[in-house]
Amino acid sequence: MAGQIIIKQGKEKALLRKHPWVFTGAVAKVKGKPGLGDTVEVLDTRGNFLGRAAYSPHSQICARVWTFDANEQVDFEFFKRRFERALNMRKAVLPPETTGYRLIAGESDGMPGITIDVYANWIVCQLLSAGAELQRGVIVEALKAVLPEHNVYERSDVDVRKKEGLEQVTGVLHGNSEPPTDLVIQENGLKLYVDIVSGHKTGYYLDQRDARQAIMKYAKGKRVLNCFSYTGGFGLYAAAAGASYVRNLDMSQSALDTAARNLALNGLDASKVEHVQGDVFQLLRDYLGEGKTGSKGTSEKFDVIVLDPPKFVDSKASLTRACRGYKDINRLAAKLLNPGGVLMTFSCSGLLSAELFQKVVADGALDAGREMQIIERTFQAADHPVSLPYPEGLYLKGLVVRLVG
Ligand code: SAH
Repeated sequence: MAGQIIIKQGKEKALLRKHPWVFTGAVAKVKGKPGLGDTVEVLDTRGNFLGRAAYSPHSQICARVWTFDANEQVDFEFFKRRFERALNMRKAVLPPETTGYRLIAGESDGMPGITIDVYANWIVCQLLSAGAELQRGVIVEALKAVLPEHNVYERSDVDVRKKEGLEQVTGVLHGNSEPPTDLVIQENGLKLYVDIVSGHKTGYYLDQRDARQAIMKYAKGKRVLNCFSYTGGFGLYAAAAGASYVRNLDMSQSALDTAARNLALNGLDASKVEHVQGDVFQLLRDYLGEGKTGSKGTSEKFDVIVLDPPKFVDSKASLTRACRGYKDINRLAAKLLNPGGVLMTFSCSGLLSAELFQKVVADGALDAGREMQIIERTFQAADHPVSLPYPEGLYLKGLVVRLVG
């Protein structure tokens, strides 16, 4: 044992409730000389065992609990058990014909600082904390034991590693070759290209699977505007459901190129789908004639609009500014809807609560002079579970709102 962390009296409550974070302010003493990511014992002032955790000396969260069981060691068997348990859960909840899924959702799967996604026969890991970094070798061995047919690739090119005192790294961890550039997954029976090397995050936004499925109910025979489309997921489902027209908007041309390839991959009629590269804030203004150019707008309207922006909130300080951004796009979208139109609007900012998000969307609709009703709520798909004592695990929420009248 590399060391021990003694928790201040009264500050052990969260740990007793199995919340896995130890904040620096809760620590009375660090005993021994634990190094970056070392496994330490977390004890109360009387010496009672609270957990076994990874030490992150550079972070505000200075320890992340691997296990609350005093008899459990953090070793190959530990990771193997956790991966098996996670895989069994995915097998139970994933829809059929789906080969892309999140195997490990960090804290919610009892694996703080670890994200693992599976795309067909490639596993993509993101190691976000010092503890995860230190365990890389064992993690890979355990993955090989649980999913022996798979290759493993690392995409630890994320900013949060800085807070942990870690550099960004990417590369093959197991497998004989570089990942293919034409890797295809199935999602609810639809096929999608996933670029695990240079795509966003680990390659694809698996968390929106259920919401993408939900658009099929609303899209048949409709004009669909898919904002922040990335590789066209919502647009693909809409086209598959028989939309009369789909427009994908994104600032990334390469994502839009993949969106076009995804249509062809599924044998869908590409003539009904347009891809427009640009800034959604600007494009929506242009359609409405609110743009800087003083144009009258296109007077185009849509029956279904998707707003799936990137995370606008990365700190509490940025919350107000982010809310203005959410309100702005929701106002613009509400104005662009035909009567009876449906807006599918999302926020993946964990720091923005579902309640506040609803208020912001309501403010946008109000400013647009539109009366709207919530007809459906969506959340991150079930392979992105939320551990009950860890409410921070819920980050993605969606509202499906319909124009009244
Ligand atoms: N809806 C997608 C995921 C969207 S992720 C899916 O189902 O897979 C967010 C996307 O927004 C990214 O592709 C990013 O390139 C794009 N983006 C970020 N800011 C943007 C902006 N201001 N205008 C247009 N696209 C933007």
